[in-house]
Amino acid sequence: MKILSVRTTERNQFIDITNQIQRCVEEEGLQDGIVCIFVPHTTAGITINEDADPDVTYDVQNTLSRLVPHHGSYRHAEGNSDSHTKSSIIGPSLSVIVENGRLQLGTWQGIYFAEFDGPRSRQCWVKTIPSR
Ligand code: ZN
Repeated sequence: MKILSVRTTERNQFIDITNQIQRCVEEEGLQDGIVCIFVPHTTAGITINEDADPDVTYDVQNTLSRLVPHHGSYRHAEGNSDSHTKSSIIGPSLSVIVENGRLQLGTWQGIYFAEFDGPRSRQCWVKTIPSR
């Protein structure tokens, strides 16, 4: 398993980690198979979305924040129940197909680390699984 370090600078932030994941695939020497990316945090997540227009990830974050406001009638005393809720909505892991050593993503797709309680030092765990 490889561990990627991700440094976030805002409370809510999407960080494009597509190139780092591709580098992991190359360093692990995976030609054909699956790369599994897992975020070991309860107030962050991982997702795939458009990487051409940055307004898209801005709009996704903005929509999540409207659906799940920072302050509300939450019981969790840490004051970050919105972050935990967004983490569950987005989810902690992704699997991406690898063919001929390349991530198989659609033309407009990028892999995003989704921060919901930054700024923090975060990790992504990356495991390559060859196909037989
Ligand atoms: Zn908490």
